[in-house]
Amino acid sequence: MTRDPRYDILFEPIRIGPVTARNRFYQVPHCNGMGYRDASALAAMRGMKAEGGWAVVCTEMVEVHSGSDVAPYVELRNWDDQDIPTLARIADRIHEHKSLAGIELCHSGYTAANLYSRETPMAPMAMNVSTYHFDPVHARAMDKDDISNLRKIHRAAALRGKKAGYDLIYVYAGHGLGIFQQFLSRATNDRIDEYGGSLANRARLLREVIEDTKDAVGDTCAVPVRIAMSEFLGADGLEPNEVEDAIGMMAELPDLWDLSLAAWPKDSQTSRFSEEGFQEPYIKGVKKLTTKPVVGVGRYTSPDTMVRVIRQGIMDMIGAARPSIADPYLPKKIEEGRIDDIRECIGCNICVTGDYTKTPLRCTQNPSMGEEWRKGWHPERIRQKEKDAQILIIGAGPAGLEAGRALGQRGYQVTIADAAREAGGRVALECRLPGLAAWGRVRDWRLLQIGKMPNVNLYLESELTADTALEFGADHIVCATGARWRRDGAGHHQYLPVPVAAAIEVLTPDDLMSGMRPRGKEAVIFDDDHYYMASVLCELLVKEGITVTYVTPASVAAAYTVNTMEQKIIQARLLDIGVKIIAGQALSAIEASGPVTSCIYTGKEERHETASLVLVTSRKADDALYQGLKQMGAPVTAIGDAWAPAAIAHAVYAGRRFAEEFEAKPTDVLEVPFRREMIALSV
Ligand code: ADP
Ligand code: SF4
Repeated sequence: MTRDPRYDILFEPIRIGPVTARNRFYQVPHCNGMGYRDASALAAMRGMKAEGGWAVVCTEMVEVHSGSDVAPYVELRNWDDQDIPTLARIADRIHEHKSLAGIELCHSGYTAANLYSRETPMAPMAMNVSTYHFDPVHARAMDKDDISNLRKIHRAAALRGKKAGYDLIYVYAGHGLGIFQQFLSRATNDRIDEYGGSLANRARLLREVIEDTKDAVGDTCAVPVRIAMSEFLGADGLEPNEVEDAIGMMAELPDLWDLSLAAWPKDSQTSRFSEEGFQEPYIKGVKKLTTKPVVGVGRYTSPDTMVRVIRQGIMDMIGAARPSIADPYLPKKIEEGRIDDIRECIGCNICVTGDYTKTPLRCTQNPSMGEEWRKGWHPERIRQKEKDAQILIIGAGPAGLEAGRALGQRGYQVTIADAAREAGGRVALECRLPGLAAWGRVRDWRLLQIGKMPNVNLYLESELTADTALEFGADHIVCATGARWRRDGAGHHQYLPVPVAAAIEVLTPDDLMSGMRPRGKEAVIFDDDHYYMASVLCELLVKEGITVTYVTPASVAAAYTVNTMEQKIIQARLLDIGVKIIAGQALSAIEASGPVTSCIYTGKEERHETASLVLVTSRKADDALYQGLKQMGAPVTAIGDAWAPAAIAHAVYAGRRFAEEFEAKPTDVLEVPFRREMIALSV
């Protein structure tokens, strides 16, 4: 197939200073939880983006000095020449596929607590460091020597970046993380010298460093500036008008303007709270200020939207982090006229949890993400079967569908059976909940792929028992039968069931998703799961006129969503819609009149009167079929939630893993099933 001419514009080359991008697809810098620790894995991941057609592929933020160390977060380092081989490996992988490599140099100012290096943090003004753990560390106000040292540090890092082979060397003033934004913003700059006060003064260091960087590497490297268009602090911080004024003052100085929002949670909003293109209002004023290319993001996955934003003069290149994670081959698919094959990002931010948990990023839609080097997985290809086999998969949720798709791609004869009337398992149900519609893409993309495979058949409304499954005569049976929410109170805080009085109505998320509703006009939702579900159910019930009290042992609502950067938005949403939030309360019993909870600190009991209690605590594997088949000696494997419940991303991964490992030599339990980067001991 060839590409539709209406997308030709996306494949025009774009000049960026001294270099030229072969098309308009630009993978903006993004974190990944791998950094210096997992350099080869990181290089393979970036290389995959280049292979998939992204003309520019950037690193994440790269520390420019040991005095800007963001430990415990694992990012790349560019502290001295010892870091060059790691940085070069990444650039090389990107160059192998004719893409340009960009490096985002970063001094983190007051967001680097320097816990590893033990250097004193520094910032435009004296202040507490801003870290997630409220470290008892202050940043020192930079004096003139510090400013001059910072310029020296940045220049040296730029030269190392060039030496490592990078084509674009960033000056970073975004996300509240780059120190040049911290100088630019009144919120973090109270200086009374020539680096504080007026906008021209606050922008002085940014201007100087752009000039330094151009001077150091600008002969062969482009120098982009990544800048935050708003800090969402009102008049106290950066707002679009002022940032546009700053851009106007330096309009032609850098080779490209890469626009973002600060802080990071504002930049990488989830689909639950924002639509594709949500940043356009902040981007659209910039192109008229400069002749340099403008890059913006907004979770773009639709080529028609991409064409529109270019034709409307909103941006010149389509910036993407998440869409390139969910589908490294997105540009290539557009180029080859395979629009349907694009694996669209669902906007869940599971990828972001990698950075927050300091582990290699994973992706709900793309199970090969982070495994390109560790396991040799490819987002588009998989090795062919060794010999014929017929595989029966029971359950068409994310695990079953992905296993079926990937086994089908390997060439096996696959039958997927599901008891439900529609495919998708939990995704089919959850995508009907408020804000989660885009999650349906997990099912839709897989159904579309499976639909193209004559060797994969899907049967709905087909509930199987151990006997009927065995009668089918498959060479192997895969139980992807999912899990059910528990109705006994066992959760993260309370491991064992609590006593439940018969008289009270206890509902679970499964009940609500199947259409059941509380008896009366009020309900208590008890959340010991801490991810999105309880908060989404609050929204569902409130929308239907039910008054909701939300009780949790955590200190905030939806505590885990700190890692998807949604927690504050969720808490605000619940407060806005009138949900009463009661924190720090663990479940001790469920009486006829309502749940009894106890303070997690003092043990003091509280009673919450209600006719209906919704328990969102934990899930139990639906593994009866698996256990039955195993007892009968059948060749059977359980995967996904049926093996152990987890997030959708884990189920998709489990499906892929089964397909990858089917017929492969079983790994000895003592063997680590993936490649590791080993530290070379110093002499
Ligand atoms: P996962 O997240 O692991 O993919 P899900 O809960 O999303 O799990 O999906 C499990 C699917 O398995 C559901 O669609 C359910 O209807 C189906 N299922 C469960 N038990 C059976 C069975 N005995 N026969 C056929 N389908 C089943
Ligand atoms: Fe998109 Fe979710 Fe994948 Fe991140 S994890 S790229 S948000 S689908």
